[in-house]
Amino acid sequence: MSAGTGGTMRCVAATDGRVELVTRARPTLATNRSDAVAHETVLVRPTIALLSPFEREVARGVGAEAGGGRVIGTSCVGIVEDATHAGGLIARGTRVVVQPVFACGRCERCRGGLAMHCAMRTILGFDDAAGALSELIAVPAAACTPVNKELDDERAVFAVVLARALEAVRRGGVDKTTFASVLGDDVLAVLATLVAVEENQFARLVATSEATLRVGEQFGIRHRALAETGRRGDQELVIDTTGSAETIAAASRMVRPRGHVVVAGISARAPIAVDLSQIALDEIEIHGSGFGPLGGAIERLTRRAIDPSPLISRRIALADAAKGMAMLGEAGVFTVLVQVTR
Ligand SMILES: [Zn+2]
Repeated sequence: MSAGTGGTMRCVAATDGRVELVTRARPTLATNRSDAVAHETVLVRPTIALLSPFEREVARGVGAEAGGGRVIGTSCVGIVEDATHAGGLIARGTRVVVQPVFACGRCERCRGGLAMHCAMRTILGFDDAAGALSELIAVPAAACTPVNKELDDERAVFAVVLARALEAVRRGGVDKTTFASVLGDDVLAVLATLVAVEENQFARLVATSEATLRVGEQFGIRHRALAETGRRGDQELVIDTTGSAETIAAASRMVRPRGHVVVAGISARAPIAVDLSQIALDEIEIHGSGFGPLGGAIERLTRRAIDPSPLISRRIALADAAKGMAMLGEAGVFTVLVQVTR
């Protein structure tokens, strides 16, 4: 493997919005967890990790308690390097995608089917758990899902964001009669539209950028510029993937009375001001949507029911992650794939 010599490795940390390559001590199984939650922990060597708007917002400070030095990266595919303490759950050498929400599996929420909301959860590359832009990560064995040969690394790395898209559509309750729009210009918006279309072929992507509309064209999904959508208020569901005052307001205008808005954008912006009067008068229902289980995403990627390849905008080396983060600001850049190790 190409990790640093001795006890160190390279990883990408964000400090007060600045992203840089740093050297850290390699994680060990013995020192991984300091809290009371016992995990069967493994060491995974990420091969490819994803830079998406989520990573950018984490670098900008969402989820941070203290200022700095957080290793970022929430989505990766990699190889299990050390399964000594895996309790037989997974074998060394297995290629896996990692569920970024680490759940205890024992608390009331976990036992009640709400593992994504585990009372003791930590999220890879978001809060306590050092992220995937790293030559080695320590993760619970239960967070690792093996992927088979049919699913290559470049597609597998989209499992986490596709799972978020599936969750957003599930929270919105799209069925074959639902008039649904997904509002946004990011990878999550495009994927959520593709998932919604599985249920209702008329589900559409509403975007502001030409590049997003072109990708909608490429995927063969209905797409519309936000400026061209009417203010009729005729949608039953609008999924917003941005999380800004403007997009929430636009989503609220697009839904019919008693319609549903799913807030799926995770953003480091300051708390936003939203006109709640319209939401009250029109009796609009607002739902939040976060992470989701990976199974449905891996299954769709494996049989290529959803192929995210057109959303791969750049490929870079780990050492260029800061440049990759800047690329996310360019028009038409949806994701940047980072080759972490080979
Ligand atoms: Zn739990």
